[in-house]
Amino acid sequence: MAITQAMWIHGHSMQIEYQDRLKSVWRPGFYVRVVGKRDTTNWFHFSIPTTVIVRDKRQMIDSVMLRFRARHTRASVTNVHIYDGERRIATYDGLDLSPRNFDLSRFNVPGKPDVLWGIGISVGVRFAGTNDEQNTLEFSSAGCDFSLFQSVRLHFKVLTNPNIAIETMLDSMRQVFEPRGFRVLHLGTEDIDHPELDVVDVGGCRRGSTTDEQEELFVNRNGVGNNDIVVYFVRATNPPSNGCATYPNGRPGCVVARGATRWTLAHEIGHVLGLNHVNNNDRLMTGNGTGYITNPPPDIVNSEINTMSNSRLTVDP
Ligand SMILES: [Zn+2]
Repeated sequence: MAITQAMWIHGHSMQIEYQDRLKSVWRPGFYVRVVGKRDTTNWFHFSIPTTVIVRDKRQMIDSVMLRFRARHTRASVTNVHIYDGERRIATYDGLDLSPRNFDLSRFNVPGKPDVLWGIGISVGVRFAGTNDEQNTLEFSSAGCDFSLFQSVRLHFKVLTNPNIAIETMLDSMRQVFEPRGFRVLHLGTEDIDHPELDVVDVGGCRRGSTTDEQEELFVNRNGVGNNDIVVYFVRATNPPSNGCATYPNGRPGCVVARGATRWTLAHEIGHVLGLNHVNNNDRLMTGNGTGYITNPPPDIVNSEINTMSNSRLTVDP
């Protein structure tokens, strides 16, 4: 999943839990150097500046990092505990880390929880050396990677099942969207009976202009939330195409025709989220037809990700 923010703090901001167990603390510009008393353990704490909400969406924590070095293997980091406010969200115990050079140690946070209150990294250390040199640790920085929690919420209303299974289209869409930070949530499938709309007039299929038949079809939002997108699977569009993503105001959705390709669903949802055609068959939004896509899965580029992130339809559930 894409990292949306990386936040770091310098080592000399480190807080020490048991000052009396240290022989010395030195805070020059480069790092904080601590010399532990022989046969002691201690806890050092870093608080990471944390933007918990970006563009109205909550961030998930991906992992934290420590950059430090030890003069000797007898001084080591033994524990890394990661906190969000008062809640501990990851625990690494039984470590024995004594890198001789400044080295980046990364600790993943399982389950990538939402960040609510601010990230703290608590570092357990042990000093087992027999002299000051052996009991020296130097921390230069600590940091945290975040990703944005965004979801696309889909409902399917089926008038006619497509030739390529809906599940295949959904899987294909996930291959494109999920690595770029958009979870695709499938919230339900309903068969609806509207033979008169099964070949649906889409007119010129231009954003902001819909036909009477589209108006009629898109009224079907049974069990659908305001920011949810409805995909209507129909036998065909008139004029014929794989799909069309124009929708009436306040009823976001698209139609997908029976002859659609495995990428049509993802492509039409791209339109619903604000994307336009490009002339490039490596990209999801190719205007040449998704049947011509080369190098699957097709790409979405950073400017497109930005557009989709700014859509009110990519929501923080
Ligand atoms: Zn298109």
